[in-house]
Amino acid sequence: MSGAPGPGEQGTFPGMPTPLYAASPSRLLAWLDCPRRYRFAYLDRPRPPSRPQRAHTSVGVSTHNALRDWWDSTPRTPQTGGRLVREGWIGLGFRDERQSEVWRERVREEVTAYLGGVDASRVPIGIERTAAFKTEKLAFFGRIDRLDDRGGELVVVDYKTGRRPLTDEDARTSLPLALYAAAVWKMFRRRCMRVELHHVPTGTVVSHTHSDDSLVAKVREAESIAADLRRADAEYAVSGTDAECFPPRLSPLCRWCDYRAHCPPGQAVGPEHESWAALEAPSESVPDPDRDEGVQA
Ligand code: SF4
Repeated sequence: MSGAPGPGEQGTFPGMPTPLYAASPSRLLAWLDCPRRYRFAYLDRPRPPSRPQRAHTSVGVSTHNALRDWWDSTPRTPQTGGRLVREGWIGLGFRDERQSEVWRERVREEVTAYLGGVDASRVPIGIERTAAFKTEKLAFFGRIDRLDDRGGELVVVDYKTGRRPLTDEDARTSLPLALYAAAVWKMFRRRCMRVELHHVPTGTVVSHTHSDDSLVAKVREAESIAADLRRADAEYAVSGTDAECFPPRLSPLCRWCDYRAHCPPGQAVGPEHESWAALEAPSESVPDPDRDEGVQA
């Protein structure tokens, strides 16, 4: 073997072609957010302990779980969706039991209202479905919240639960959504150009219809990030935590970072936010509660 393989790739024998770099959206975006945070989350082993789950993440997971299980429930009514929120509520990260109960009721109402606008008879062809594709450089995989077939048109749906209002620009620029569409196209051998973000708190749907060129551009962007990751992983394999390609990227996100306890530069940005502070913060400087950080590849 030619040395220890990086975490995103398989090992190689001399003369073999360079293996594909395996990456999920969360891995690609973690690198863009902050190389030091990427190192903590994906390379350092044992992984530094991250802080306990925050309340806005609990809201996101509770909402996603209810919307997933709703399609297998009877009767498939909006009220059933609300009941699923109550039964599956995750109360981690809230200030106290009272705040958790207030938010459980709020999210129950939001999910019930959102499902009032969903056609229960039109069952998606994919629910939390794994999606993957390979290029010459990248082995991409991820999980799509919902994949609709609307009269022959395949549509990628991603649920959002943060407080920040969304615009069509969010759907147009989303790297994960474009990669999911590319994956669906490859897996189903059918064009998939439309992507949607469903903002559950308001019931707002924002969307974008990609062109062939814009999807290809997003795949090239992912390949470019993967190339940077490959180089960084290789440097880490040689130098470990002395590698210089994982600088801290200081930003308002440092005040939310799961790994700030291990990052003195990030601590200097400001005091850590309370674990429930993002519940009411519709700002750009709040982390996305719906990013799947559980996929460690
Ligand atoms: S605290 Fe800031 S600089 Fe440090 S790892 Fe987290 S995001 Fe990066």
